Amino acid sequence: MRYYNIPIFVPHEGCPFDCSFCNQRRITGMDTSITKEQISEIIEEHLKTLPESGRYVEAAFFGGSFTGISPEKQCEFLETAYKYVKNKKIDGIRLSTRPDYISEEILDRLERYGVSAIELGVQSMDDEVLKASARGHDAKTVERAVSLIKKYPFKLGLQMMTGLPGDTDEKAVMTARRIIDLKPDFVRIYPTLVLSDTLLEGLYKNGEYTPQTISEAVNLCKKLLLMFRENNIDVIRVALVTTDEISDKGSVVAGPFHSAFRELVEGEIFYDQITAVLDKDSSVRTFCVNPRELSKAIGNGKVNLKKIKDKYGFDIEIKPMENIEKGKIKVWKE
Ligand code: SF4
Repeated sequence: MRYYNIPIFVPHEGCPFDCSFCNQRRITGMDTSITKEQISEIIEEHLKTLPESGRYVEAAFFGGSFTGISPEKQCEFLETAYKYVKNKKIDGIRLSTRPDYISEEILDRLERYGVSAIELGVQSMDDEVLKASARGHDAKTVERAVSLIKKYPFKLGLQMMTGLPGDTDEKAVMTARRIIDLKPDFVRIYPTLVLSDTLLEGLYKNGEYTPQTISEAVNLCKKLLLMFRENNIDVIRVALVTTDEISDKGSVVAGPFHSAFRELVEGEIFYDQITAVLDKDSSVRTFCVNPRELSKAIGNGKVNLKKIKDKYGFDIEIKPMENIEKGKIKVWKE
């Protein structure tokens, strides 16, 4: 079974906030409100590109605070997508929103329209970081929203950021711990980028904000990814999707942008695993990984092979091997 999202961007709709890092119109690449006709068109067009069977498809309302839109518009948008759930063309609806836009009334509505998953923008569980980022809610609000959502059959996703104003590695690790305690079904991790036309851009240009470097962000995200993995929480995304806008040629002014950011993080995890073996037994020369992870294990631009040559003075080989669990390495034995 393969999972597919049909992304429907709801740009800045209903959001009276101005989180320091956010320029929602740029993230979505649109600056107009969406109509129900456009929603149908997006779903129809995507469905044409998907396989007929062996698929699980969700219409995904992303890009704004969905449950902050007027109830009439929420119903209109959801009703449009729900028609496709009822006629079995798609399997569910997911949406993202803020923790302070969750109430029983809202959740009852979402349940009525076949919503299958809710993603909350948590960003940090440290109140000072939330305040410095102008989020407009605190960590307690996240806990309240999560406990309400858990009374319903929705899948729950929590999104966190690293490198926000006032943030530290310790605070990000604490945020991940508290997120783990909240037992979400999945998580997304976004290192903060300085986008043009945001409050953060002003702070950065005045010297009041220093973004993470790529290597700082990779190292921290490595720790976080491992924490979630150890607790069997799926990390479905690390870093924003690269688009024409979200790129170093687009609106990214500064920050740890890399078009293959997650590969860098996972490559580092493989590097640590390989060096842990070599530190114990420097006669090992060949490792095996799941074929789908070969490029991650070798590292972006073969960086892992190069670093190992520099550190130990010899070459190693990494081979693909079926039946190796993803994320693991094995020592090759003849
Ligand atoms: S609540 Fe969401 S959409 Fe609104 S400003 Fe903050 S990040 Fe952007």
